[in-house]
Formats: sequence, structure tokens, C-alpha cells
Amino acid sequence: MNPRVLIVDDDPALLEALPEALRLRMSALDVEACDSASGALARIADEDYDAIVTDIKMPGMDGLALLDEIQTLRPDTPTLLITGHGEHDLAIQALRRGAYDYIQKPIDRDYFTASLGRAIERRELAKRVELQRLELERHAHVLEHVGDGVFVVDRDDVVQFWNLAAERITGISHDQAVGRLAGALLGGWEAVAPSIPVAGAVRPKRQLARMLPFEVEGRELWLSLCGVDVADATVYSFQDRTDERVVDKLKDDFVATASHELRTPLAAIYGAAKTLERPEPLDSDGADTLISIITTESERLARVIEDILYASHLDSGRLRLATERIDPRALAQEVVDSMHLHLPDGVTLSLEPSPGDLPGVDVDPTKLRRVLLNLLENAIKYSPEGGPVVVRVGVDNGRVRLSVRDEGLGIPRGEQERIFEKFYRADPQLARGVGGSGLGLYICRELVQRLGGEIEVESEPGRGSTFTVDLPPARAPSGVSPRPTRNGGPPQAS
Ligand code: ADP
Repeated sequence: MNPRVLIVDDDPALLEALPEALRLRMSALDVEACDSASGALARIADEDYDAIVTDIKMPGMDGLALLDEIQTLRPDTPTLLITGHGEHDLAIQALRRGAYDYIQKPIDRDYFTASLGRAIERRELAKRVELQRLELERHAHVLEHVGDGVFVVDRDDVVQFWNLAAERITGISHDQAVGRLAGALLGGWEAVAPSIPVAGAVRPKRQLARMLPFEVEGRELWLSLCGVDVADATVYSFQDRTDERVVDKLKDDFVATASHELRTPLAAIYGAAKTLERPEPLDSDGADTLISIITTESERLARVIEDILYASHLDSGRLRLATERIDPRALAQEVVDSMHLHLPDGVTLSLEPSPGDLPGVDVDPTKLRRVLLNLLENAIKYSPEGGPVVVRVGVDNGRVRLSVRDEGLGIPRGEQERIFEKFYRADPQLARGVGGSGLGLYICRELVQRLGGEIEVESEPGRGSTFTVDLPPARAPSGVSPRPTRNGGPPQAS
């Protein structure tokens, strides 16, 4: 569309001559003429001209009054005023009130067209800037609401933009983020930023994002990130992949544990069986030892497999609880009795006498038995030099507390929270010489939580550990004593 110009003058000669001069000197221009300020005002209200030229002296409304109206109605439209010869003061007034330029009579046609050309150009530029501003606003709005986290970092590594998804993923608000160094928000940024794929601003190619770890507010976040360079900044977009990473890590841990914990007993069984197969006769002690190796290692194998299946059962939410009221002390006694058969040399196992009457607990006894059994097995396993293992049943803060104390290896402080995680082993390289699947305490914690209780550990490396299980007491009417446990036989993992 051609630029549109309105010329306002009460002098019919000029009203004819000026458009003509413009047509001759400027190409592609639509020029309209109007002989009064009031008529012009009506048109300006309806039409958006790219420039307006008006005589300053007209009967009725003069050019300055018209200029004031234009400033209100169309503040972006440049207005040129035609002044009489020597009307310098009027011209200055016009400029002060917002005129773009003034043209003195007699009109120098070249100056007039050049000035009008500049006015139109300025208007054009202002329109483009406005369009770009709107476009930017639209982009910013889109970026604000896209599902991916988006942030913009300037050349000094200072964050200039931080969208809603970035807030949601990191937990860092827009106000906390903007104006701060990227490295202060995303721990490890300086080290990994150079390896983030960043496309150039000119025809940016689609980049494959990279998965990188950051420490954010004390948590490890795995973000899949890529960026695009813009004029003086880089726009990064990212997705949170922490959950996937956790699953990957679990898979790695599972493969490592399963391969070690299955292979070791299998190798022992295979070796023993091969020796038994040999034609040379063995003395009966030798044969007994080999058979006992096969039995214990098969049990160990079965135990690991069973732990894996049980953990997956727990994770799938398929576990059923058959709750009944039991006497926790009787249950502890059963488990301790069953363990006496398997005590290694040097380990003693005892159940401390409980002070007074104990409340019952409403739990699934097979699950609680399994927890206690696991804690006892660990206490024994992690006391390789032998030592006492003591079980206690009591009341603490109104909750029924079962505790298992040993004087074995203990657990380093930094590991005490983590030992309840799936597959977590405080000593994966078996430097302490004790094997395991890393599932036992995970299963214990999951079961205890489902029974409405809590499990905790206190431990000092080299001095031993105490595991406590706190359970809510049964809400029994006073005087009703709990039934003994149904299962009096040796505890079974179920
Ligand atoms: P595992 O099969 O490795 O024993 P658990 O989940 O039962 O798996 O225990 C996780 C880790 O916690 C163990 O690898 C061990 O390092 C530590 N742990 C558990 N119980 C004890 C204990 N009584 N004494 C010392 N360390 C223990």
C-alpha cells in the first residue's frame, strides 16, 4: 500500500499545486486534499494518514488548533505546518507543540518534498518498531507459557528471562532468577554450559538437546538442554529428565546387583557340583561340605530373587495387607527363636525383657515379621567379628517401638539416609566382605510405611547400629489384651 498524505489548506491554488508537486517529485504516494481544518479533522478521525501537511493560518480552526487535535487523535502521525513568510515565532510554537517540521512560504518544493519524505519514513519506521514490539510481546507470551522451561542468558551470563515452566521445574521463581548469574541458580553451570548445543541465530538448525546434571536448591536435576544464540544473548530451552535418570540409575544398579549377587552363589554351586561329579571318591566330610555349600548358596540365590520379586510387587501396588491385632512382643519372640538356629559363631541374640504391659498393634503380622527378620539378618550379617544382637520391644512417645541393636560395622553418617533406597548398598565393592541385594531395607521401609509406622537408624561407624520401627498402638478399648500371633511357627518371608 502507498503511503497516504493529507494536505489541508484554504487556498485553492496551493491545494492544487502542492499535490501536483508531490506527484512529480515523489513516486507511489496517495495524496488527498482538504480545504478546511474541520473537514480534515473528520477525515483524520476515520483514516490513518502517514503524514499531514496543514497551512497554519486558516479561517475558523487554524493549523495550530488542528495540530493539537492531531496530537490527541493520532499522536504518531507526523504533521508539517506551512507558515507565512517571517512567521518565525509561529513556526517555533508549532514545533514546540509537536509538529514534525514547518515549511515557509514561498514554498521551496525540494525542501518540502524532502521533509515530507523524511516524515513518511519516520512514520514507517515507527510502525515497524511497533510491529516488532508486538511480535516480541507475542513471542514472550508464547515462551512464558510453553511446556518447556525457557530462560535467556546475556553475554555476561546474567539471566534475563525465566518462564513459568522453568519456575515449575526448578522451584526458582522468575523474580529470584532474573538478574542473577546462571551459575548461581543452576549449580555446575559454568562447567557444563560449554557443552550445551547452541545453534546460531542465522537459520538456526534443530539441535539435539543434551542431558546434563545441575544442582538446584540442594537437589540434583537432570535437564535436557539446548539453546539458540540471538543478538546479544542465548535462549535456552529445557525439559526435566530427572525421573528418567533415576530409573536409568535404578536399572544400572539392578544389573550390577543382580549380576554380582546371582553370579557369586551360582559360581559356588557350580564349583561344588562339578567337584561332586568327579569320578574320584570324596571322603564323607568333603561331600557334606560341598552339599552344604550348594544348599546355603541356593538359599542365598533364592533370597535375592525373592527380594527382587517382592520389591517389584511392592512397587506395582499389588501388596495386600491382612491386618489383625497382635502382641508385638510375642511376634519378636517368634522371630528371635527362629533365628537362633542360624546364628554364626560369635554372635549372640537376645530379646530384652519389656517394661510392663505393652499395647497391641493392628498390623499384617507376616509383613512385620518380615521386617524384623530382615533387620536381624542385617545385624548378624554386618557383625562379621561377632558380638551381641539385642532386640527390644517397648513404648516410645505413645508408639510401640521395636528395635534391633548390634555392635557390628556401623554405617557411615553420610549413608544413613540412603541405605533405605532401592538397591543402595553402603559398600557396593564389598570392601567389608558382606554381600547383599541392597533391597532389604528398601522393602523394610516400604512395609513399615504401609503398616502406618516409621523406620529409622542410629549408627556409629565401627561401633554398631540400632534400627527402630515405631508403630501406632492399636486403638483398643482399655482392658482388652491383644491376641497372640496366629502363626507360631518359624517366620516365613511373604
Ligand atoms: P543388603 O542386601 O546390602 O544388606 P539392605 O537394604 O538390607 O541391603 O541394606 C543396605 C545397606 O545398609 C547395606 O549394604 C549395608 O551397607 C547397610 N546396613 C544395613 N544394615 C546394617 C547394619 N545392621 N550394620 C551395618 N550396615 C548395615
